Amino acid sequence: MELIFEKSVAGRRGYLLPKTDVPVSASIPEQFQRKRDCPFPEVTELDVVRHFTRLSHLNYSVDTHFYPLGSCTMKYNPKFTEQVAAMPQFCEVHPILPQLKNGELLTQGALFVLYEMDKLLSEITGMDAFTMQPLAGAHGELTGVMIMAAYHKAQKNKKKYIIVPDAAHGTNPATAAIAGYETISVKSNATGVIDIDQLKQCINDDVAGLMLTCPNTHGIFNMDIDKITKMVHDVDGLMYYDGANLNAILGRCRPGDIGFDIVHVNLHKTFATPHGGGGPGSGPVGVCEKLAPYLPISRICKRDNDTYFLNYDYPQSIGYIASFYGNFGIVLRAYAYILQLGKEGLMAISDHSVLNANYLREQLKKYYHLPYDRICMHECVFSAVEQAQRGVHAIDIAKFLIDHDLHPPTVYFPLTVKEALMIEPTESESKETLDLFVDKMIQADELSRSNPASFHDRPKTTCISRPDEVKAAREINTNYFAEEKPDD
Ligand SMILES: *Cc1c(COP(=O)(O)O)cnc(C)c1O
Repeated sequence: MELIFEKSVAGRRGYLLPKTDVPVSASIPEQFQRKRDCPFPEVTELDVVRHFTRLSHLNYSVDTHFYPLGSCTMKYNPKFTEQVAAMPQFCEVHPILPQLKNGELLTQGALFVLYEMDKLLSEITGMDAFTMQPLAGAHGELTGVMIMAAYHKAQKNKKKYIIVPDAAHGTNPATAAIAGYETISVKSNATGVIDIDQLKQCINDDVAGLMLTCPNTHGIFNMDIDKITKMVHDVDGLMYYDGANLNAILGRCRPGDIGFDIVHVNLHKTFATPHGGGGPGSGPVGVCEKLAPYLPISRICKRDNDTYFLNYDYPQSIGYIASFYGNFGIVLRAYAYILQLGKEGLMAISDHSVLNANYLREQLKKYYHLPYDRICMHECVFSAVEQAQRGVHAIDIAKFLIDHDLHPPTVYFPLTVKEALMIEPTESESKETLDLFVDKMIQADELSRSNPASFHDRPKTTCISRPDEVKAAREINTNYFAEEKPDD
């Protein structure tokens, strides 16, 4: 497909700016002034509309395709939450609306939503207080580990390490490193969860905490969790719950009751708002009572007369971690979603996400190797090692699925599983959709026996077939005018 720049014809116009009615300022210093015209594409309105409409049709999205990306929870995108987010009373509100004469903030409705979400997420996760500010799961992790560090500093604990299982999402060790800790990676055992014996050897007084996803990225719930919690608490370490997989346990068990001290929730995974394309997201962080003084400011508090105010009076707070109140629109969608579903609806999420994943596991285990052959939670991890022996790797199966109008599952993650195919159907897919996916996966296996070479020029249905992904990641160049020097 041609780029919009390639469609440009000199002099063609889609829109004309009105003539300026203020004096042209000559105050831009000489060295910052453009030497020649900006190379905007010159196109008609029809060119623009058709170009971007066609481009949008090349996209995969949950509105158009099954999207079984493990660890990402690409569930459906309910439309009523979009309606709520588009209400002018919410989307036209400005975070620094003036105060009333009596000092009351005019943003009462928005503050009410943020305050109520604090209470709802605390109830759902078993924590004592939440901040809605973090802008994604990874940002929530950083906030949580900064709170951990502030706690240890206040306790005068000298701590150096954060323990992370080898199946963890890459953001966990990255977070620990950015917050100034060294990470200790602990291996998974044959059943797919953190190895307790190895963990014992790593626990000492220098351990600040342990970051755990539960169920983990193998889709397995750790039955030793209370033992692990006790081991970490015994050295005054803190337990961090990576909540990316919360949909697997919603309404069934609460991280706070298990003994976790800090939790992040990915609103864009568990509570509506799919996040393909990188956002926006929201990663609220909840803490137990002893850590509440360290939460970011401002915190939203309620007066006796049911009005809300921003409270900055937390001297031990880690400070600001985002401007204003975080991604308010995403919090608002999650709030509407939770109210609409209610307790029974939230429990149905965990029921169906676990049922759907186990259905796929049972249907496909005759064809694909299962490294952890046991009941899974909301996602299951297969390995294409047998297909790979015939020359068909996980990436080839992914490309085959693209040609059959299905988004591939996550491949090559978690790192603990060779040729990993990590499948999360989510709770919102029908049996017919799951059966279609199963059929295509079985077809891929059959084709790996009858004609393995046929995989290697796939996908055939896309604009670009097999980009050099390593080069694309390391030498990213998205600038059409890249050959020009920056000062041109
Ligand atoms: C998605 C994910 C994260 C990071 O969350 P983002 O919102 O993408 O920043 C962390 N841990 C796990 C297990 C995840 O699946």
